[in-house]
Amino acid sequence: MVFQKFSSINISLLSIVLFFCLLQYPSALQVPGLRSITNLSYENPEIQSLREEVKENLMQSARGKTINLVFRKYVLKKKDTFFTVMAKTMLDHDSLSSINHLASLWDVEPGAVWLIPNMRGVAVYGSPDELCIKYKTSVDSIFPVPGSRQLFFITGRSLEPSERSYLNGTVFLKPVKGFISSKFGARMDPFSKKEQFHKGVDIACPTGSEIVASASGKIIFEGEMADYGKLIIIEHSNGYRTLYGHLQSFAARINQSVKKGDKIALSGETGHVTGPHLHFEVRRKGQPQRPRMLDGLHRGQ
Ligand SMILES: [Zn+2]
Repeated sequence: MVFQKFSSINISLLSIVLFFCLLQYPSALQVPGLRSITNLSYENPEIQSLREEVKENLMQSARGKTINLVFRKYVLKKKDTFFTVMAKTMLDHDSLSSINHLASLWDVEPGAVWLIPNMRGVAVYGSPDELCIKYKTSVDSIFPVPGSRQLFFITGRSLEPSERSYLNGTVFLKPVKGFISSKFGARMDPFSKKEQFHKGVDIACPTGSEIVASASGKIIFEGEMADYGKLIIIEHSNGYRTLYGHLQSFAARINQSVKKGDKIALSGETGHVTGPHLHFEVRRKGQPQRPRMLDGLHRGQ
């Protein structure tokens, strides 16, 4: 009896521990043998050896020698920024952002698990054969990324400039003049009073305000869509789309190519709203992103 009682307590303890472990480490990073960096202090021996390895690998790569690529993982802390992690690990912008699928350099959440390679490069999807041709490199420089079947890390290569400008937050402009009345992320729904995820930002603006294309692209949807009311969707390069909801009227046609700053619509309050505003959303490969917008550059401001 005593033994049974103990084992049931142990099992419940184990499941609680497992639950927290799973919360902290997404399944993609349940990779056996992956070393963990506990903190980014220069005194930490893991950081010291990582920095030595990065230096060594950069030298070896410059001499055309094969390198020994090792991945570690790091759980982001509250005060970490993209730039502190980059500086402490001696990696560069492209290595860290591509391997960790960042939507922008501000896509940094405490508790997220990042992969830290010991060499600079770029993580891309594809097959090794295709990637050899595209990146003009040999298979010796292409390494599978732990926890992913189709993602490969190509050492000594970098992102294409257009992809880098999306990550740097310099692509999108604020599509209308006005203040942000509701931010991206978890919020109280004004109707149901329950917490829900807001997939974009709301920009307060009087009905009839000029809405401009946030970046150059092609209009792929123009019409009514449920809560969005009158909606325009623009497709951009690199798998990005922007959505403009609650419009009063359209000022551009479906399939029309638009330039950043071109007038596309007038704002309104159609759909599920409590007052006039623009709902603006940025998606990358279907996933809503936290919009980073350059302010004050659109026409009329
Ligand atoms: Zn909204």
